[in-house]
Amino acid sequence: MRPVEEVRSLILTTVRRLEAENVPLASAVGRVLAQDVVAPHDVPSFPNSAMDGYAVRGSDVDVAGATLEVIEEVAAGQVAARRVGSGQAIKIMTGAAMPDGADTVVRVEDTTQTGEKVEIAVATPTGTSVRSPGGDVQSGSVVFTGGTRLTAAHIGTLATLGLAQPLVGRRPRVALMSTGDELVAPESEELMPGMIRDSNRPMLNVAVSEAGADVLDMGTVPDDADSLRAALGEAAAEGDSIVTTGGVSMGEFDVTKAVLIEEAGVEFFPVAMKPGKPQGFGVIGGTPFFGLPGNPVSVFVSFEQFVRPALLAMQGANRLLRPRMQAVAGETFESDPAKEEFIRVTLDESLPPVVRQVGGRGSHVLSGLAGADAFGVVPVGIARIEEGSEMIVEMFKAVESRPIP
Ligand code: AMP
Ligand code: MG
Repeated sequence: MRPVEEVRSLILTTVRRLEAENVPLASAVGRVLAQDVVAPHDVPSFPNSAMDGYAVRGSDVDVAGATLEVIEEVAAGQVAARRVGSGQAIKIMTGAAMPDGADTVVRVEDTTQTGEKVEIAVATPTGTSVRSPGGDVQSGSVVFTGGTRLTAAHIGTLATLGLAQPLVGRRPRVALMSTGDELVAPESEELMPGMIRDSNRPMLNVAVSEAGADVLDMGTVPDDADSLRAALGEAAAEGDSIVTTGGVSMGEFDVTKAVLIEEAGVEFFPVAMKPGKPQGFGVIGGTPFFGLPGNPVSVFVSFEQFVRPALLAMQGANRLLRPRMQAVAGETFESDPAKEEFIRVTLDESLPPVVRQVGGRGSHVLSGLAGADAFGVVPVGIARIEEGSEMIVEMFKAVESRPIP
C-alpha cells in the first residue's frame, strides 16, 4: 500500500497550473490570486478622523480645561475650508479629512459645546484619534501574495485599493461521472430491487464547486466498456481533469478498471488509508484522471485527500491542505496500524475540543459524515488512541452553530 502523502505528491507533480484571467470582485471569492497585489496608493490615502469630535491643535488640549472657538463643521466626504489655528477647533465626523493645522481629535464625549465655544474636559495627547495615511496599507507594498485564496476580507481590501478586476487562476473544469449499473437518479421515486440512488455525483458537484472549480456533469455511466470509453474520450477532451467513482475495487474484475488499464498512464493501486483504499490515478489524453472508489464516504475522503488539493494547485493556490489541530480523544479509538484512518468525529466546545466518533466507520454510512465536524486522523503505525490522550483532527468543515454561551 502506498502512503497518502506519496500518492498526493505524485498527483501534485502531475497536475499543471492553469492560465490566469481577470474577474470582477463579485465573482472573485474563493478564487486564487495569480500574482502579488501591490498597493497603488496608501490606505487611508489622507489623514482622517477616527472619531466624531473636534479637530484641534494638540498643544491646545494637552491639559484638560481649554475652551476653544468652533470655526467650522466637516462631515465624511467633505474638506474643511478653513485652517485650525491656536485656540480654534473644527467639529469633525468619523472619516472626514483632517483640516489643515489640526493634528489631534478630541472625542465628542470628552467635550461640551455651547454656542460657538467648546470646552475640552479631558487632556488629549497630540495625534489622538487621527488615522495616518498608509496606516492600513502602504503605497507600493505587497498586500497579498500570489497563491492566496480570496475571502470576503480580501475582496474588501481589493475594493479599497480600486483593484476591481483581480488576476486569478482559471477555474478548473472537472468532468465528473459516476459508474454503476445499480445507480438511478436522485429524482427516482421508486427503487427497483438492487438499485440505489446516485449520491456520489451530487455530493461531488458541491465539493468541486467549493474547491473553486466548475463541474462538467457527465451523468451516470453504465458498467459497459463502450459507454465508458466514449464518456472518457469526451471527458478528456472537454475537462481539465476527470473524476469517476466506482468500479476500482481490488478484488473483482471491474469494467471501469479494465477500460482504464488499457489507457496509457492510468494506474490502480491500494493506498494506506481508511476509508478509500482502492484508488486510480493517471493521465488520459493529457488530462489528469482520478478513479475514486464507489462507496460514498470513501469518495469524500479521497476527494479531500487527493482531488481537492489538486484542484487548488491547478488554480495556483499555495495552501492546499485542510487545517489540522490538536484535540483530546473523548473515547478510545482503535485503528488498523497499516493505514492512515480518517474517522468521522464531532468536536465539542471545550478548548482543546473533545473528539467523539459519529455515525460509525462503514464506508457506506454517509449520514454520519454529514453529522461530522472533522476527521479524527489516526496515522499509520498507531493501533489505539486512549481516551483522554491527544489526537489530531482535520477540519474539513467549519464547526457550525456554536451555541450562545
Ligand atoms: P464499486 O466500487 O463500483 O463496486 O462500488 C462500491 C460500492 O459503492 C457499492 O456498494 C456501490 O453500489 C456503491 N456506489 C458506487 N457508486 C455509487 C454512487 N454513485 N452513489 C452511491 N453509491 C455508490
Ligand atoms: Mg460499481
